[in-house]
Amino acid sequence: MENTTLISLAEKYGCPLYVYDAEKIISQYERLKNAFSGVKSLKINFATKALSNISILKLMKSLGTNLDCVSIQEVQLGLKAGFAPKEISYTPSGVSFEELEKAANLGVKINIDNLPMLEAFGTKFPEIPVCVRINPNITAGGNQKISIGHKKAKFGIPTNQISLVKDIEKNTGMRINGVHMHTGSDILEVAVFLEAAEVLFSAAKQFKNLDFIDFGGGFKVAYKKNDSATNVEEFGSIITKRFNNFCKDYGKDLSIIFEPGKFLVSESGNFLAKVNVIKETEFVTFAGIDAGFNHLIRPMYYGAYHHITNISNPNAKEKKYNVVGYICETDTFGEDRMINDIKAGDILSFQNAGAYAFTMASNYNSRFRPAEVMVYKGKDYLIRERETMEDILNKQIEVDL
Ligand SMILES: *Cc1c(COP(=O)(O)O)cnc(C)c1O
Repeated sequence: MENTTLISLAEKYGCPLYVYDAEKIISQYERLKNAFSGVKSLKINFATKALSNISILKLMKSLGTNLDCVSIQEVQLGLKAGFAPKEISYTPSGVSFEELEKAANLGVKINIDNLPMLEAFGTKFPEIPVCVRINPNITAGGNQKISIGHKKAKFGIPTNQISLVKDIEKNTGMRINGVHMHTGSDILEVAVFLEAAEVLFSAAKQFKNLDFIDFGGGFKVAYKKNDSATNVEEFGSIITKRFNNFCKDYGKDLSIIFEPGKFLVSESGNFLAKVNVIKETEFVTFAGIDAGFNHLIRPMYYGAYHHITNISNPNAKEKKYNVVGYICETDTFGEDRMINDIKAGDILSFQNAGAYAFTMASNYNSRFRPAEVMVYKGKDYLIRERETMEDILNKQIEVDL
């Protein structure tokens, strides 16, 4: 998005502010769809947790995506946004049986990632088909916290327990209708993805009544100039061939499912924050902004990189800054960043703020969560109001002892 657009939005709605470019979301969706145009049945399930604003979900619905939900509340949001139950896949990790029951009663597609729940579910609802999540036992993903497919990860059923899954299928009379994996975020190497895919194919072979194979999400996007990203076109052409061959051997045209979160929305987002103060010390120049890890936690939580630019003064000479927040704990958004000369009152823009950004925001320090704006064809739409003191006090009960 143009700096001038962002500046005028910051003036109109105030800071801190999340701004999403709907056209970027649409073009990422089209890119992914085209990369898999060679398979008979492709489904793209948007990973709701990446950006769950209801207006974004409605945009997804209008594009034709389905939803991947990891909590019953995300399922309810998806239904509220207009998705049919059959368009929602519920892929939780370690939730209670009550929550699985609720999802079953809502009619959404169910994915189970452990044997006890699978058995309990098959016993109670033998008529509802279920997909199983497999742990592909490979190490992938950008870092430890987002690498979730390795052998000690809590996610999925280990491949050496597939015979037990088949026993449960037989004994309960349920049907396993899909196999699923999600190996982690920021997967770069097509080869690593393919290695995991082969594990899933050999798991799939062992089930006779599948409708689909779900390869999860985890496509990496660029975070800065010349940064690497998953080559989805190359990946698409290789996987398409392999998948079509698998279907031939299997004797049925299965659907192929992906669950991208970051790929669809990361680059669409900009987070805007105003600079409160410039503090110079002997060693460092700090730019202190009117936001903190309560608004954007990825740098502190994952060590994620968000490119920061000074959109108020994009042509000034660059200087070195540490960009820090106002939370009373270490709260560093960027260290030793070369940024165009910053003055108090300038507005900084953080890129790649579409995925896992607002959805991870909190009220820590009793701060309001930011407003969210969506821009489409030059028009801006407020899709979430900034919070107020009422939101902070909502549900609190005053007790005087
Ligand atoms: C989080 C998640 C995704 C999306 O991951 P991205 O890295 O954002 O693509 C997909 N599937 C499941 C089951 C997830 O939990």
